Amino acid sequence: MTDRIWNFSAGPAVLPVEVLEEARDSLLSLGTTGIGIMEHSHRGKAFLKVYAETEALVRQVGGVPDNYKVLFLQGGASLQFSMIPMNFLSAGETADFLVTGSWAEKAMQGAAAYGTPHAACSSKDRNYCYLPKTISYSPQPKYVHYTSNNTIFGTQWRSEPERPAGVPLICDASSDIYSRPIDVSQYGMIYAGAQKNLGPSGVTLVIIREDLVAAGAKDIPVMLQYRTYAENESMYNTPPTFGIFIMGLVLKWIQKQGGLPAMAERNERKAGKLYQYLDQSALFRATADADSRSLMNVTFVTGKDDVDARFCAEATKAGFDGLKGHRSVGGMRASIYNAFPEAGVDALVEFLKAFEAKQ
Ligand code: PMP
Repeated sequence: MTDRIWNFSAGPAVLPVEVLEEARDSLLSLGTTGIGIMEHSHRGKAFLKVYAETEALVRQVGGVPDNYKVLFLQGGASLQFSMIPMNFLSAGETADFLVTGSWAEKAMQGAAAYGTPHAACSSKDRNYCYLPKTISYSPQPKYVHYTSNNTIFGTQWRSEPERPAGVPLICDASSDIYSRPIDVSQYGMIYAGAQKNLGPSGVTLVIIREDLVAAGAKDIPVMLQYRTYAENESMYNTPPTFGIFIMGLVLKWIQKQGGLPAMAERNERKAGKLYQYLDQSALFRATADADSRSLMNVTFVTGKDDVDARFCAEATKAGFDGLKGHRSVGGMRASIYNAFPEAGVDALVEFLKAFEAKQ
């Protein structure tokens, strides 16, 4: 095997080695079945067991209450940008959006085809480098949608935003799901593409309260109704079996590490090391406001494009991959999700120090 390098990719992202090793063995034979995980029928006993285990782990690890359904969908988080309004919003109705980045903006644009989206706040004025403190909700929103972690801009809500009582809160948690404990009962629905904190791309986790499943539109294609998945254990058609399997392994790994409290502690410590260095550096600075910073995506710049480019090139050569920032922010971004090892953060801090010393 070639040596693994430090992979700071924003997603698909690094997975725990233990998970990859178990996955590798399961490719040829799942347990003693003599059939690889990708070759098992989704209706067969072996896969049904995998499915039940993954669903149970989603519930156990995340503390998902019984009145929520756990669904495994396809189409990425991006399909949810349309599927949510398609199910819950009609012409003449308003849904409110906290516009804190490009993904939040896309979620809002998705709603425009079905009803009236209202931007309850926006941090676009400063290129999304902060989370707004003032939110102006519309009089009667059908739901409030927000993005818990803004992958591109490196900001993250510390807790759920204040919102009008009784209005379902819908969260795109693609880039920080299961990175810390959350109170699921605060939400109408939480969704996330798996490819950052939960597994490979191709499976989207949806945790949705039962009353919302029931309230969804019925005059839309059957594959776009949440109830189709809720009533058929996500098996109305062939589900993304491999992704569900890997998600189960990742959740088992999280549980072994001590669950979400342990993840939160580790994530605080990892990001803390980077921000601490950046805050005292004379060369680099973090781009997000201190009170809005993400523990998952640490965005930083030198302020000079040519120095940023040189840093990225030298970092790549030294075995630090994926540090180039998104084109809409520039500079650098270190994505350090759950599975990113703390030793890799330590190595990056040392590399930053050495680069700064050379300047
Ligand atoms: N929302 C957030 C917060 C994201 O980071 C991403 C992907 N980077 C998306 C949505 C889009 O996800 P997908 O590619 O699974 O559609």
